[in-house]
Amino acid sequence: MHEKNTKIVCTLGPSSDSVKEILGLAKAGMNVARLNFSHGTYEHHSKLITNVHKVEKILGIRIGILQDLQGPKIRIGQCPKEGIEIKKDEKFILSIKQIQALRTHAHGIVIPVRYKGIIKDAKKNTPILINDGLFEALILEKKKTGLICVAKTDGVIKTGNGLNLPMCSISAPAITEKDKEDLKFGLSKQVDFIALSFVKSEKDIKQLKKLTENTLNPPQIIAKVERHEAVKHLKEIIKTSDAVMVARGDLGVDIAPEQVPIVQKKMISLANKYGKPIITATQVLQSMVKNPTPTRAEISDAANAVFDHTDAIMLSNESAVGKYPVRAAVTLTKVALAVENELKKDEELRNTFITKRNIKESDAAYESACDLARETNSDAIIVFTKTGDLSKQIAKYRMYIPIITITDSEKTARKLTLVWGINKVFVKKLPENDFKKQTTILNFLQREKTLKKGSKVILILKTKDKNNTISTHKL
Ligand code: PEP
Repeated sequence: MHEKNTKIVCTLGPSSDSVKEILGLAKAGMNVARLNFSHGTYEHHSKLITNVHKVEKILGIRIGILQDLQGPKIRIGQCPKEGIEIKKDEKFILSIKQIQALRTHAHGIVIPVRYKGIIKDAKKNTPILINDGLFEALILEKKKTGLICVAKTDGVIKTGNGLNLPMCSISAPAITEKDKEDLKFGLSKQVDFIALSFVKSEKDIKQLKKLTENTLNPPQIIAKVERHEAVKHLKEIIKTSDAVMVARGDLGVDIAPEQVPIVQKKMISLANKYGKPIITATQVLQSMVKNPTPTRAEISDAANAVFDHTDAIMLSNESAVGKYPVRAAVTLTKVALAVENELKKDEELRNTFITKRNIKESDAAYESACDLARETNSDAIIVFTKTGDLSKQIAKYRMYIPIITITDSEKTARKLTLVWGINKVFVKKLPENDFKKQTTILNFLQREKTLKKGSKVILILKTKDKNNTISTHKL
């Protein structure tokens, strides 16, 4: 629909659950729909999936479906509807007893927390951040069933608010019992991507892969980097996952906010290097939750992510609960197109991560294919791929030459909805013989009118004996 290369992930929610709204988002440039399993019922998620499929049919496009598992997020228990107001320097207790928040106690108000392990994991004299860091407190004492804290800011604590312990390590398993149930639901719906929250190391990803690999059409696993522990294992996490997300909301609470842009840049560069799609997420156009236009700073933030070669940008509250979901998606598309236009014209500005030293043999082959495409002024790079990996490995060079993917699997085509620049994907059964495969692909693309007669193309495929062949053709 849009010839932008950068993909847009939109979180669906009450503001965007109808076919009409989802259609609006898709027309505005949404490539992947995210279902946030921190909220909503299975019934509502089912409705969202059905409506996304309806929109795919109406527009004749693919929209990837991403299930985002809540993970071991620590949350505040039951509070009165209006929340509990706490003043700076006031003492209060975070209790693991599941009671309604109470005001009458010797150490102040008792507020329930829905994680028993907090007593073991928390450390005295370290900070506690609540509601994405809007409210800050210090742990004064650890008791058997509660933590005595003192408020460092004024704040209102509400049921379900998230809670972070930035200087402590959370011992809860990465995949909770709720996640396992949600996973069963997601797998039954054959979602394309599953995002795991609060990943600490590549071990968490391996564990989720074990739970999904023997299913029909295993989904792509996305690691959400939002913990300080994960920042220490970026390379291993990126190599083990199928894709990654810079989850800036929780990350900016778990590490100092000024460190987030640094981690973001490192992650984008590493993910590009390994050909793993990367999503830059959270508060991208936050002001558009309420306002019809974004701030200049928000536009710059999104633009810089595109300049840095992120594969995708994600909308959260903007599209799920905001007043202007479609306008927010239109805004991102405009930003992506504007930046990509500059990058297309200026190779210096593009200046990607690629280094010529110590690269794998396969990388050397793909890099040569891209060089060849550039030097011969090719009209397109055609890739045949079974798993989608070859398309990702070519896309990572950010060539601004159209990449056309042919695959024999619809599932593979859906996985590529998240990958930068992969817009034209055809699903077709092809002959086994390598030479016949080549001619069938070229004839098919001409018949489809994807390429004009006389077009110059580079064709890359893995032969039956797993070698890469790169050939040039004039149609
Ligand atoms: C984030 O914390 O930035 C994020 C994407 O996670 P969630 O929206 O699930 O809190």
